[in-house]
Amino acid sequence: MTRGVLVSIHDVTPAHEDRVRRILDVLESSGVRQLALLVVPRWHGSSDLREAPEFCAGLRDLQARGTEIFLHGLRHDEIGAPRAWHHHLRAFSRTEGEGEFMALSPSEAGARLDEGLAMFRDVGLAPIGFVPPAWLHGRESERLLRERGLDVTESSWSVTDVRTGASRRAPAFCWSTLAAWHEVGGPMVQSARLRVQKNVPLLRVAIHPPDVDSRRVRESQQRVLDALLEYRQVLSYREALATGA
Ligand SMILES: [Zn+2]
Repeated sequence: MTRGVLVSIHDVTPAHEDRVRRILDVLESSGVRQLALLVVPRWHGSSDLREAPEFCAGLRDLQARGTEIFLHGLRHDEIGAPRAWHHHLRAFSRTEGEGEFMALSPSEAGARLDEGLAMFRDVGLAPIGFVPPAWLHGRESERLLRERGLDVTESSWSVTDVRTGASRRAPAFCWSTLAAWHEVGGPMVQSARLRVQKNVPLLRVAIHPPDVDSRRVRESQQRVLDALLEYRQVLSYREALATGA
């Protein structure tokens, strides 16, 4: 079976326009021709997509050429979604206050999904799925997505077809610039993983806008992309789920 890789840019928002453009340039020159964009309609309560017509025209253009669009939270941070103690355990070392959907009740989550989807419709984006910020799902997440016609979701370890509930294991390469020790440790961990996960059928590469601000992270990403593209085919999420595990 062909070994595949899914490539995505997280936290796509007008607030990160310049960084997203730089990531797109790197991916293009690396030969990545299939891509997913995880778009946040109102990043941190501002940067409303509807107020960024040129940015949205760029997203629509990519969408028309086959780029898969995901809704990625409504605002991404946890303002208005306070954590209980067990949420701190789930989020430990994963995110600093960027797990918007983790602590929401199903009805609150549904309302935010509806608002985000309405904003997407206003700007002409048709998402294939939803990825919660920091990959932290709330309760009854799959049911909420199914009810809204969203077909695909993912967690840190797998990709799921929401319509059937079938999941494929797909470990993600993800660099974090949250803290200096992450930044130094990240690249070493990623190159060890390249060796260990050589035969895993499906891998993901998840790039975040702040990654471009760190030379070490950029270099590590380039090494990982070059290594993976040598023997893996870049797939769309739909292709990856259609070909099965
Ligand atoms: Zn995110």
